[in-house]
Amino acid sequence: MKNQELIDYLASCGVCRVCQLRYLKARGNEYRNMQQTFQRLDVKVEETDIKTPEDESDEQPPKKQRLAICSTCLGLFSDEFQSQLIEAISKSDFANYDSEGIVLAITLPLTLQLRQLSMWLALQRKFGKSTFNDNCAPDVPIKEAVKLILHPIVCSKLGKEYDANGLMINIDVRHSVETEEVAKLTELNRAAFPGKKRIEISRGLLEKQYQPARIKAELFEKYLAIPPAAVEDPLQLQSIDLMGPIVCVAGRYRKLSRELSHTPWVLQGKRIMEESIEEIIVQQVAPHFSDTLDKVTFMSSGREDVDVRCLGKGRPFVLEIMNARRSSLSRQEAHQMELAVDRSGKVSIHNLQVVPREELTHIKTGEEQKRKYYRALCVLNEPVTLDILKRLQISESFIIQQKTPIRVLHRRPLHTRPRSIYSVKTCVSRENRRLLIIDVVSQAGTYIKELVHGEFGRTTPSISSIIGKPIDILALDVVGIDLDWPADVNNAEVEVE
Ligand SMILES: [Zn+2]
Repeated sequence: MKNQELIDYLASCGVCRVCQLRYLKARGNEYRNMQQTFQRLDVKVEETDIKTPEDESDEQPPKKQRLAICSTCLGLFSDEFQSQLIEAISKSDFANYDSEGIVLAITLPLTLQLRQLSMWLALQRKFGKSTFNDNCAPDVPIKEAVKLILHPIVCSKLGKEYDANGLMINIDVRHSVETEEVAKLTELNRAAFPGKKRIEISRGLLEKQYQPARIKAELFEKYLAIPPAAVEDPLQLQSIDLMGPIVCVAGRYRKLSRELSHTPWVLQGKRIMEESIEEIIVQQVAPHFSDTLDKVTFMSSGREDVDVRCLGKGRPFVLEIMNARRSSLSRQEAHQMELAVDRSGKVSIHNLQVVPREELTHIKTGEEQKRKYYRALCVLNEPVTLDILKRLQISESFIIQQKTPIRVLHRRPLHTRPRSIYSVKTCVSRENRRLLIIDVVSQAGTYIKELVHGEFGRTTPSISSIIGKPIDILALDVVGIDLDWPADVNNAEVEVE
């Protein structure tokens, strides 16, 4: 079989030029200059027949003449459909998304898959199974052709880049023959697989089962035409839905208040505290990216108790924002957000930046291995002695066994966990010799309050058991978290420029 014979036969079956190239297994750029590709493949076609997909002729109004609709793609690759598609996207909410990259997700009628099989069977009949065997599809699949042909055209017309993680344009395409042909497919399916009780007709089923090896031409033809029948109507654009990308915004927060919960604190339907770290940050950052705040997830590398501050470099956090309207954040904008959060007086943030989603693993994993740095203000019943001070200078790490504290038993299971304490350093307050300032470096997940007083022996050893005296904790600060993420950025700097 010569390429010319194949193309002449396909043309006689009402197959469009783009699809003819699919049956010549053209790749990538070969669809850009179709004339050249046909020439290279030794195929003569009428020159007027060929329109290069990117043949811009925007000045002229589209001709209203009715062109025959391709029997295999139903006009999916026609200029008319492309113009219609671009127009529909432009009329959608598209302009409200400020995303550099886009990706198309097209839902196509099932009949396209049926027609692919029908043409496969037709080619076998015409040219023999030695030329078109049962196992290897004769064409470049429509799905792939959409990527090769439609994607680049739509991207260039909309002035966007292709980006699998960009704004997703969901396009639902229908055709008037779909209902009738799927009904016939259901009958065919019953006849082809009589043993099976009820099989759901799906794309997956068509991909797996609907091949010449499983469906014989004679049976297929009882229900559907070989080669595929001509159609009168063009494809219909049923709907266009836009789904913005998932954007992750990371930073570090300092918690400056001893009366602030991490996330909204609600007990039996009542708010215990008016605000939370999560809300203060989300309210200032998320509106830049999204119209609604309910598609925003706040995560951080661990958390503090309500009455614990977090100082030093602060704690890494990230907001995961679904269906984002935009995916970029300038340093000026970031700085404005940082200032707005700072004005709360309760939380301060810095290093605010958009990060790749893969980097969320920094927050999500390895939590237990991280070191945490604490400063605790503690009180003894009597003035400190030199012996106590000496005992509380520990530079070698040791392991404690810690039972789940009673105060968190309502939300955590009862376990005894070993935790590493890497060092303890202590000094005395100048004003009050009963007050100690104890710096502890510990494994993440250590309950520091219980480490200090021992909670009736539920944590051993404890600061209390080490000195052999009762000791209580008055205030606790987190002063360092051993996670160098996200990267340091000084958003304030740009304002000077
Ligand atoms: Zn076609």
